[in-house]
Amino acid sequence: MMMKTELIRIYDPAEDAEGVLRAGDILAHGGLVAIPTETVYGLAANAYDEAAVKAVYAAKGRPSDNPMIVHIAELSALPELVTAIPENAKILAEAFWPGPLTMVLPRSSKIPLTTTGGLETVAIRMPSHPVACAVIRAAGVPLAAPSANRSGSPSPTTFRHCVDDLWGLVDAIVESDDCTVGVESTVLCFLPDGTPQVLRPGAVTPEEIQRRCGCVSVAEAVLHMLPQDAAAPSPGMKYKHYAPAATLTLLCGSREDYAARVNEYYEALQRAGEEDGFYAMCFDEDVSLLEAPTISYGVAYDYPSQAQNLFDVLRQLDKLQATEVYVHAPEPEEMGLAVYNRLLRAAAFRVVHL
Ligand code: AMP
Ligand code: MG
Repeated sequence: MMMKTELIRIYDPAEDAEGVLRAGDILAHGGLVAIPTETVYGLAANAYDEAAVKAVYAAKGRPSDNPMIVHIAELSALPELVTAIPENAKILAEAFWPGPLTMVLPRSSKIPLTTTGGLETVAIRMPSHPVACAVIRAAGVPLAAPSANRSGSPSPTTFRHCVDDLWGLVDAIVESDDCTVGVESTVLCFLPDGTPQVLRPGAVTPEEIQRRCGCVSVAEAVLHMLPQDAAAPSPGMKYKHYAPAATLTLLCGSREDYAARVNEYYEALQRAGEEDGFYAMCFDEDVSLLEAPTISYGVAYDYPSQAQNLFDVLRQLDKLQATEVYVHAPEPEEMGLAVYNRLLRAAAFRVVHL
């Protein structure tokens, strides 16, 4: 069912104070508002309001066992949402909040099971984006906010992506700047011995977590396909993600090896008259070596630049009507791990090591 969607302009929360109040008011009354955060745009609802949270699942077309991240604007909002805060969670909150880090903690009874997808834990994050923080404060409640895309499509990093996916399905979309991080937050839980375990890599890297806590673990599913019958430590791991219509293949190797493989394949396609729809999704440095049409997603080894462009480029592939794409994979190190993890899912785990 289509509904009327409002566009609310908030580039600066002080200048656009009226917009902040309007967004807060819609949320406080059970409505849905897409808001910018530093990671990706989120589709926010009152985390305490089961009907509003159910409406988020419906608008996204998201399976209801895939839990949401609860967003707070102050550390003082945390204790009432959880029943315990491990020592390493305090260290990481001190180091990385506000920022792109989500921690899975035991849920207090204030958080309904609808919000946690039926789990006894809740994922919590304090975003650093001034608009996100202003809207949370104006709403006066913690906000459950998954990425503001239709489930399965690339996460939105511009307000236009939200308009493309959710116009007519939500009460309001905040018009604001593009997201600076570009991939979703790092999600981690704590193992029984207190070791932080990364469930989804993001801008806060395993290397940085190791430095702060002296230990870190990375869940198997970050880099490998889960067996069909395995229980996922994080429900989001099970689902198809970020997928453009084209068939993507990840190619891991040097600039020369990547270019050689792409050129060889493209020439074969040309001989067969089947080159239409083929694209090389590559780094800026690769472009001059390639004969196929290219679309660059950043500078080689500059993982933050790749993260920032990633989802927009995946969406552009659909606009270009790409059918087959050879992607030059980043190294799965530092923030490259987050980029690699998203590409792996977009490519349905098709990887070639050159
Ligand atoms: P999104 O809302 O699109 O950013 O996705 C949220 C991610 O956090 C999903 O991958 C969820 O599976 C994960 N997540 C949220 N809550 C929990 C939880 N309680 N335990 C484990 N993973 C969670
Ligand atoms: Mg998402």
